[in-house]
Amino acid sequence: MEKKKLVVLGGGESGVGAAILAKDKGMDVFLSDMGTISPHYSAILDAENIEWEQGQHTMQRILDADEVVKSPGIPPTVPIIKAIVERGIPVISEIEFAGRYTDAKMVCITGSNGKTTTTMLTYHILKNAGLNVGLAGNVGRSLALQVAREQHDVYVIELSSFQLENMYRFKANVAVMLNITPDHLDRYDYKMQNYVNAKFRILNNLTTEDAFIFWQDDPVIQSQLRQVTTEARMYPFAEHVERDTRAYVDDDDELVIYTPDTSLRMPRADLSLNGLHNLYNSMAAALSACLLNIKKDDIRNALSDFEGVEHRLEFVADINGVRYINDSKATNVNSCWYALESMPAADKPNVVLILGGKDKGNDYSEIAPLVEQKVKTIVCMGKDNSKLLDFFAGKVPQIVDTHSLDEAVKACAEAASDGDIVLLSPCCASFDLFHSYEERGKLFKEAVRKLRQ
Ligand code: ADP
Repeated sequence: MEKKKLVVLGGGESGVGAAILAKDKGMDVFLSDMGTISPHYSAILDAENIEWEQGQHTMQRILDADEVVKSPGIPPTVPIIKAIVERGIPVISEIEFAGRYTDAKMVCITGSNGKTTTTMLTYHILKNAGLNVGLAGNVGRSLALQVAREQHDVYVIELSSFQLENMYRFKANVAVMLNITPDHLDRYDYKMQNYVNAKFRILNNLTTEDAFIFWQDDPVIQSQLRQVTTEARMYPFAEHVERDTRAYVDDDDELVIYTPDTSLRMPRADLSLNGLHNLYNSMAAALSACLLNIKKDDIRNALSDFEGVEHRLEFVADINGVRYINDSKATNVNSCWYALESMPAADKPNVVLILGGKDKGNDYSEIAPLVEQKVKTIVCMGKDNSKLLDFFAGKVPQIVDTHSLDEAVKACAEAASDGDIVLLSPCCASFDLFHSYEERGKLFKEAVRKLRQ
């Protein structure tokens, strides 16, 4: 029999993992990347004897494929994908591909904000409870590579809408939907419904044996749930108990989790992650763990000793009584809202907030009330700050216009005094001044630590 011809588009973590799994399964594999493949991955491809190309797509070879695995970063509108689809060649994601070769339990986490935190927290609980668990998807390593070479019993997978787009038969055992707010609309013809539909693909193929965990008060999730059907058992979480709520905080400020098989309580104050958004993330992780029959004490311990994820409301330093917090991952307005919401109450506005970067069509009115209540100074940090300066003029006592990180941190140190908080939660992508939000966060931390000297 002729070997199956599989083409992988994209030579990053997911693409290289998919190529290795395909090779292990005896397929004829070719990997193609229009950009440059990093030396780390090209070395792996060579060591695995996988054919690859970069800086081009050899059409003939690609259109000869039986199936194509597409990396999530490649938009479906690029010419190569259009040509593949026109030929009727199936295009799938790496997660879909890997899912065919494992019977492991899948905990899949999606949402507009909080995916990484919830995925890492869930992984932390399961790992500490002694499960043979893998971390995959947007965070962690490629699922395909782990399926090929490690074979875990359970995977915790962070799924973006881009990955979900090319998933068809894949089935989660526990599906988590944290929230849906506008994001990445440029990839969805600026139609919110297209983005919602992509996210809801996480419900595909769920059976009565599977669970759907979701935020009960999210208006977008609520309205979509009225339009779709699923056999999955429903596990809504909310701050306060409503109808059928499976995770909530009671009148004694205790977190309550309750499933058909178990119930768990712990003081909210014992959760290691602060803020309302992290309460939701902790609820989603705890529900997932309960559904996997993790012991209650293991869940409680892990929820209270989780150290958090870098660049998400990460405490950096206390300098002269000023607390510096790095929330560089807040690349949209909604996550900045939660960051501000989680700042402790004070007698008067005491937050110095760094905003700015590459604006993805932001509407700042969502955060305006919290800014007016909590922020004393806005430090704008971007190439072009005019939109921020116009919008916040008159809403805060002071606005400073800066165009580099060093300038911004210096302005913060000047504006903040004992008892204040400096918060980098910029609402924007970082690409105007930095390569990535990680770089922005790292440089922020370095600049803050230098203030000590
Ligand atoms: P994602 O992986 O979905 O981008 P992260 O866990 O990396 O999410 O968090 C991104 C940002 O969103 C952080 O700045 C954080 O403050 C904020 N955030 C985290 N969890 C939530 C949530 N449940 N709802 C809203 N915002 C959140």
